Amino acid sequence: ATEHKLPTFAPMPLEDIAKVREELQRGFASGKTRSVAWRRAQILALVYLIKDNIDRFNAALALDLGRSPLETHIAEVGPTLDELRVLYDGVAKWAKTESAPFSTAWFPMKPQIRKEPKGVVLVITPFNYVITLSMCPIAGALAAGCTVAFKPSEQTPHASALFAELMPKYVDTDVVRVVNGAIPETTKLLEYQWDHIMYTGSGRVARIVLTAAAKTLSPVTTELGGKSPAIFGPRCNLKTSVRRVLWAKFANSGQTCIAPDYAIVPKSLELDFIDEIRRVLPEFYPDGAERSSSFSRIVSFRGTARLHALLQNTKGETVCGGRVDVEARFVEPTVVRGVGGDDSLMSEYAVILELFGPILPIVTVDDVDEAIAFVKARDHPLALYVFSEDKEFQQKIIESTQSGGVLVNDTMVHFAAYGVPFGGIGPSGSGQYKGKYSFDMFTHLRTVLVSASWLDIILSGRYPPFSAAKARK
Ligand code: NAD
Repeated sequence: ATEHKLPTFAPMPLEDIAKVREELQRGFASGKTRSVAWRRAQILALVYLIKDNIDRFNAALALDLGRSPLETHIAEVGPTLDELRVLYDGVAKWAKTESAPFSTAWFPMKPQIRKEPKGVVLVITPFNYVITLSMCPIAGALAAGCTVAFKPSEQTPHASALFAELMPKYVDTDVVRVVNGAIPETTKLLEYQWDHIMYTGSGRVARIVLTAAAKTLSPVTTELGGKSPAIFGPRCNLKTSVRRVLWAKFANSGQTCIAPDYAIVPKSLELDFIDEIRRVLPEFYPDGAERSSSFSRIVSFRGTARLHALLQNTKGETVCGGRVDVEARFVEPTVVRGVGGDDSLMSEYAVILELFGPILPIVTVDDVDEAIAFVKARDHPLALYVFSEDKEFQQKIIESTQSGGVLVNDTMVHFAAYGVPFGGIGPSGSGQYKGKYSFDMFTHLRTVLVSASWLDIILSGRYPPFSAAKARK
């Protein structure tokens, strides 16, 4: 930490939070956020914030998550910089006032849709991808012309403290403010009315956020998680498919909202599937995951102990890994076969929760209908992965299930894909973002009509008295 001079995490005093909101309200009221050129300059400032400080972010994330800088580059920095470019390039076009489609009845009033910023927004983020999950929403809010209170996760104290130090050096303090802290600070933030809240995190906390927002009538977007299945079918390229599933499952030590949570494999494929996993794992981690600088740690002791308990309680058979060192926050890449719907790995304390760790349960099925029924018996997941070269199989899965996104023969890349929205459905989240969809989330579509006095030639029928003579007209 000293080598890169990382700041110390400091929760914001609760009494300062009202002042932060007032300052952001003043920033918004100043009118400076209305200019598209200004918005682009703020997005550019975020680009420099990331680029100038990448070594310090890597140092912070090494301490918080034991993550390799290259993985941070692939999973966070690259996609974030791409996203900021999309927002920078697109905002001028998106922000233009639109005319309503032509209608003979309405054209005299020149109906238009103005794209107005919602105002002062709150962005609450989780621990797992601190750069991308904060910078993408914040840049989206700035593109829309909003000012932003940003509450990073207390579980990554080094990265969150770094944000608090850096943000005022790049963006005005009445435009973006970092509010560090945990439950008390977030609870305080949620006492206030916000013009939009974007919450990324667990469904458990989302319920708290939505309840608080209901009291202040703050609109909310939730980006949550879920048990995203990887469904294997006929004619799948096992070698590539297994690599892609394991890459996504073990990246960031499984702490990824769109990681495949479990695999559904036809009984006839199971042994080959496990053989392939056993071949790929030593390829990824030649000296074992524990000694590999390419394998992250679990964010907390509590999180590690939770995964340990799930592994101790499974009725399945561990076919790879299984070692846990709570003190070191290490969970070995683990694969468990013979897992049923009621297993600890599939439902925790009777609640269906995502694993959020490097454990891959294998559920075997007889056919595609059983696979579909298994998925449909659970909440709509954030992502759904299909592995098969069989077009009919692919279509059948896509058409008979619901999920935030769906990928055929790959994992996770849809988060970074250009031009498509990212978001969940039902318990995996509500609303979507990325690119223009982020701009839309933080934008109010304000209808404007301009009437003329002469129109009363046509409109006078609407005024009382509503006489029989008028009705005949
Ligand atoms: P979390 O819900 O514990 O925390 C998220 C945020 O909520 C943090 O800033 C935290 O300080 C705050 N918070 C925690 N408890 C609170 C409380 N009682 N009251 C008010 N605020 C509170 O989530 P996490 O553990 O940091 O992240 C993991 C979760 O996030 C997983 O469920 C994962 O699927 C989800 N996630 C979703 C996406 C997505 O884009 N859909 C991306 C990443 C992570």
